[in-house]
Amino acid sequence: MTDKYAVIGNPIAHSKSPIIHKAFAEQTGEDISYEAILAPLDGFEVTVKSLIAQGYKGANVTVPFKFEAFNLCDELTQRAQLAGAVNTLTFKQNKIFGDNTDGVGLVSDITQNLNIAINQKTVLLMGAGGAAYGVVLPLLEAGALLSVANRTPEKAMQLANTFNQLQLGKQKINAGNFVIFKNQSFDIVINATSTGLTDDLPDISENNFAKNALTYDMMYGRETPFMSLARAAVAQVADGLGMLVEQAAEAFYIWRKVRPDTQPVIQMVRSLQMEKS
Ligand code: NDP
Repeated sequence: MTDKYAVIGNPIAHSKSPIIHKAFAEQTGEDISYEAILAPLDGFEVTVKSLIAQGYKGANVTVPFKFEAFNLCDELTQRAQLAGAVNTLTFKQNKIFGDNTDGVGLVSDITQNLNIAINQKTVLLMGAGGAAYGVVLPLLEAGALLSVANRTPEKAMQLANTFNQLQLGKQKINAGNFVIFKNQSFDIVINATSTGLTDDLPDISENNFAKNALTYDMMYGRETPFMSLARAAVAQVADGLGMLVEQAAEAFYIWRKVRPDTQPVIQMVRSLQMEKS
């Protein structure tokens, strides 16, 4: 019997998750199906319950349902709890188990695919929304010396307080608006704002990039103003495609207990993207 999985979102047509999971299944010989499901904006819970009734084993969750997914779960991993959002659901024993694999996806992409160590590196995380919350714990666990800058400084400070209370990092997270960091340079600068979608540039400058800095934009599929700024400053530039494939690989591992080889899948999705553009 083929085990059924899906990704739920709205919109969902653009999702690369079905291609990625099908490639993982082919590569590992796992007998699964994986499809994209459009849930009505007010119909996430109904959609999940219907999948469970149809015998689905799990689902990924994307915009805008990650917070609703969090509230729907019977059990959560620590990383999902701290992220306050869930992107991976597992249905078993009449329960819904929730996890968040976004952060581990980012850290795997940086350390394994880009081969850049995070331990003891100064890291500026731009943004304090859902994506930012999801990556803080894995970054701290990887040894990052973390600062968080956000347009609305109160949100950055709230994020920092949440994690500082738990004393997880090597040092406390510094947080505020972009201005307080304007004379500070960082080894790794991560764009977790949604500015890539609107072609805005957060209040960041090339002074924020240390020599040989890695700049990482969680956005993929297009050149963002942040990437252009970083390229002009001759920093290393990475987009979020590797993170996308790595978070999927972690979900696949949670469900199937088999770890797929992500490199050929990243290359495959990138070449599909290049064909389109
Ligand atoms: P949210 O809406 O939760 O947060 C948006 C963040 O962007 C906030 O911190 C907001 O600041 C900031 N922001 C928005 N507009 C501006 C602006 N003009 N200038 C400066 N800051 C701005 O979004 P998410 O956290 O869910 O997603 C952020 C990005 O991460 C998206 O582009 C998403 O596609 C990407 N992503 C990629 C993944 C991957 O696998 N590659 C996985 C998850 C997300 P403020 O608080 O001031 O409003």
